[in-house]
This record gives sequence, structure tokens and C-alpha cells, in this order.
Amino acid sequence: MTAAIIDGKAAAAKVRADVARAVEAFVARTGRKPGLATVLVGEDPASAVYVGSKGKATAEVGMESFSHNLPADTSEAELLSLVERLNNDDRVDGILVQLPLPPQIDSNRVLAAIDPAKDVDGFHVINAGRLAVGLDAMLPCTPLGCLYLLKQLLGDLSGKDAVVIGRSNIVGKPMAMLLLGESCTVTIAHSRTRDLPDVVRRADIVVAAVGRPEMVGGDWIKPGATVIDVGINRLPPAEPGAKGKLVGDVAFDEAIEVASAVTPVPGGVGPMTIAMLMRNTLVAAHRRSGLADPQGL
Ligand code: NDP
Repeated sequence: MTAAIIDGKAAAAKVRADVARAVEAFVARTGRKPGLATVLVGEDPASAVYVGSKGKATAEVGMESFSHNLPADTSEAELLSLVERLNNDDRVDGILVQLPLPPQIDSNRVLAAIDPAKDVDGFHVINAGRLAVGLDAMLPCTPLGCLYLLKQLLGDLSGKDAVVIGRSNIVGKPMAMLLLGESCTVTIAHSRTRDLPDVVRRADIVVAAVGRPEMVGGDWIKPGATVIDVGINRLPPAEPGAKGKLVGDVAFDEAIEVASAVTPVPGGVGPMTIAMLMRNTLVAAHRRSGLADPQGL
């Protein structure tokens, strides 16, 4: 069997086009654009690229982008004071503080300071708690993007065996909660899981969010399973000075021989994360304006 390659770029382009249309309708109703504030502390090149592409995507869907680039030696108090200003700024519907933060700043304290209604990353404990108890919440963008791809491909997920590898607060745990919400039978695996290949082999749906290049081999995958690869890992360069290849947590060439569908890296989950950030900002703008959530997003 050769698996279908799930086109995350195309799916993300569709979500962004839907968001752009809904933004137009929002502007027509309220007379203002939804706004997303991004906060970058320091000069980590990968973080700068992520924040840059988020700002660009925001403008492309017709929303207002406010970018705040702070020096690496910014104190926690300074960052908290910026977050407070953004919480109180009516033009700002979503606040995204790019992680990781420099060591002098406690990320948990900063995330807790963001108004949960503007927490478009869905990392605030209030939103994590609301997701856990099945209430409306701001949902973390990467798991939400994975769920979108799965539903688009498989439709009803009810009763399927899902294995999520990874239990981080930003990917693994919320992913498991979302799949549980779709009535999957969910197993969360992690570094202490025994016989991981055997656990994964039971799954109709595998979500790998580990950060270990090509860890999930083809012989771990049940024939016909759907595989969502969240991992982004850069291999060492083939020659000095060159850029190493980007790979996921799944051995893609092996997986496509066994699975029914697999996301590639790059071009799978990554583009969906940014599309869902746009979607979340739009939803936050609607809720803050007392409007019903936009349909179909
Ligand atoms: P974390 O490092 O926070 O979590 C990794 C998880 O993997 C942990 O729960 C850890 O277990 C588990 N793990 C580590 N080694 C093993 C192993 N040998 N066997 C089984 N489980 C293991 O990472 P994130 O969740 O933040 O990110 C995961 C990956 O996803 C990374 O590659 C990251 O770059 C990528 N990512 C991609 C995004 C996208 O937009 N596509 C967005 C966010 C992340 P334990 O808890 O026991 O230590």
C-alpha cells in the first residue's frame, strides 16, 4: 500500500481563505479589524522566523498585526507590563507570546497574565481547564490543526483507537483531549511508556509529537492507519556550512508503505498551526464583540 500524503499547505490555504472572508464580514459589522499582537523576546532566529510568518499571515487575512520585539535582557516585570497593556488594548483580540522565553522570565507567570479571552495560543490554565471539562475554550493551534486534518480525511472519528506520542502541555495533552472529545479511545504515550512500538501498532490514528527525528518506524504502524507527524527536527548538515534537512518524528519513507495517509514534514502540520492561529484570533474577536462564533471554522 502507498499512503496518501496529506497536503497541509492546501488545507491551511483553505482555512486562511475562509478566515479572510469571515474577517471581511466582521469588519462590515463592527467597523474594525480583528487584531493580533505578537511578542518576541530576544533574537532566536527560529522564533523570529515563526513570529515573522505569523505577522505576515495576519495581514494577508485582513487582520491588524501588532508586533513587539523586545531585547533578550527584558525583565519579567517589563514583559508582564506589556502583556497588561495588550490585555487592556481594545484593538487587540489575540496575544501571542513566542516561546521559549529567556531564562530570567518565568513563562508560566507570563502565560497566566494573558487575558484568557485573548489567549489565542490556548495555553492559559483557564483554557486548558475548559478544554478538559468540555467547555468552549481557546484551543491550542497545533492540536486543532491536526484535528482539522483528521476530520477532513476521516470524517467521524468516534470509536477509533488513537495513540498520541508526547504529553506536552502545548501539543500532546490538548491533542489527547480533543481526540477524546471526538470519542476516540485515546492512549497518551511518553518517554516512560513500555513497548512503545506495540502501543503504537494498535492505533488507527497516530499523532507523533516527540521531537526525535524519524523515531516512529514503518514497522510500528498498523496497516491502514492515519499518521499525523507534528515533529520538526533538523538533521545535521551533510557538509559543513550547509543546512540540515527538516524531518518529522516519523520515518516518512517507511510510513507511506504501511499507513493509509501520512502528513509530510515540512508541509503537513506546520502550515495548519498558523492557519489555526488566524482562526482563533477571528473567534476571539467575535466573542469579544458579543457576536456568535463564525460558522464553519
Ligand atoms: P516537548 O519536548 O515539550 O515534549 C516531547 C514529548 O515527547 C514529551 O512528552 C516526552 O516524554 C516525549 N518523548 C521524548 N522522548 C520520547 C521517546 N523516546 N519515546 C516516547 N516519548 C518521548 O515537545 P513539544 O510537544 O513542544 O513538541 C514536540 C515536537 O513537535 C517537536 O519536534 C516540536 O518542534 C514540534 N512542534 C511542531 C509544531 C508545528 O507547528 N508543527 C508546533 C509545536 C511543536 P516525557 O514527558 O516523558 O519527557
